[in-house]
Amino acid sequence: MIDLNNILENAKYVAILGHIRPDGDCVGSCMGLYNYIEANYEGIKSDVYLNPIPGCFSIFANAKKIVNYTGFDLLESIDDFPKCVQGSYVRKEPYDVVFALDCSDKKRLGPAYPIFKNAKKTICIDHHMNCDGFADIDYIIPDYSSTCELLFDIFDYEKIDKNVAECLYTGMVTDTGVFQYDCTESHTMDAAGKLMDKGIDFSYLIEHTFYEKTYNQQRILGVALQKSKLTYNNKIIYSYIEADEMEEYNVNTKDFEGVCEKMRETKGVGVAFFMYRQNDGKIKGSLRGTANVDLSRVAGNLNGGGHKKAAGFTLGNIKMEDAVEKVIEEIIKEYEIGNN
Ligand code: 5GP
Ligand code: MN
Repeated sequence: MIDLNNILENAKYVAILGHIRPDGDCVGSCMGLYNYIEANYEGIKSDVYLNPIPGCFSIFANAKKIVNYTGFDLLESIDDFPKCVQGSYVRKEPYDVVFALDCSDKKRLGPAYPIFKNAKKTICIDHHMNCDGFADIDYIIPDYSSTCELLFDIFDYEKIDKNVAECLYTGMVTDTGVFQYDCTESHTMDAAGKLMDKGIDFSYLIEHTFYEKTYNQQRILGVALQKSKLTYNNKIIYSYIEADEMEEYNVNTKDFEGVCEKMRETKGVGVAFFMYRQNDGKIKGSLRGTANVDLSRVAGNLNGGGHKKAAGFTLGNIKMEDAVEKVIEEIIKEYEIGNN
């Protein structure tokens, strides 16, 4: 177990970074740590840097203080970083401590990488099984449901207030699919129960951050399901949304959360994949599974990564039909290894 008191001893400036395109566990862990430091470490000034967060997570205490940066590509030089944050606060001097949370690979720090690189001390806290660690201190437990569950252990329970509990609980909810996926262990439920004791409105948090969708999100989900196709003896389901459809239905890249998951629920299906086109023309894909197919390996072969049953990837500016073919080929390769 890492010792936060030890890590933060003598620190004055701390930065907290997550992965590009932040999800619930990423925002929950970053804001959980931010609010924990705010409440318990007088004299430390922390900054959180993230891509714009999905709107449902703006309910976290102090979410407004997040410094938003745009873009997904890794930057090398801190001199290039201000261009990505358009006037928001950027500290050019090295931070005393920089945390990378829920981030399996330094590439996933994207434009915020120079902040990490320049730090006096770096800490990586993560639960991805393909995370080899890239910091001075790595705390990686692949069995854990979420980075938020890891932080629950690292924090002193007595010092967790309601603000912190809301962040950690939400990250656990979103990464476990409301305690459904098999990454959920009895420790996860114990931690969730203890966070409930902090007086959080857990029903509201689950509804607001996991189930609730905008009308446009529901409509694009309908389009994706309508267009979906089955292949490989109906064991693979896939669908995609092109840029013109995103425009027609007035949705952006953050509106696809949950689409792949919904496809995966189809009876008989072992693997679902969903793709959409980013503003830069590249294709972003999500993989979700129930079968004994290691999707982190499938994604790894497609310039991505993730977990065994939930992973993601990015492909270049190619035709969707070609992307479909490529992804199916990679999934079948894994199916054959798994002998399903
Ligand atoms: P999602 O499909 O929701 O974008 O991602 C599912 C899981 O895969 C998450 O744990 C996420 O961190 C991981 N993931 C998604 N896209 C990528 C990627 O491009 N590279 C890596 N290494 N992991 C990814
Ligand atoms: Mn996570």
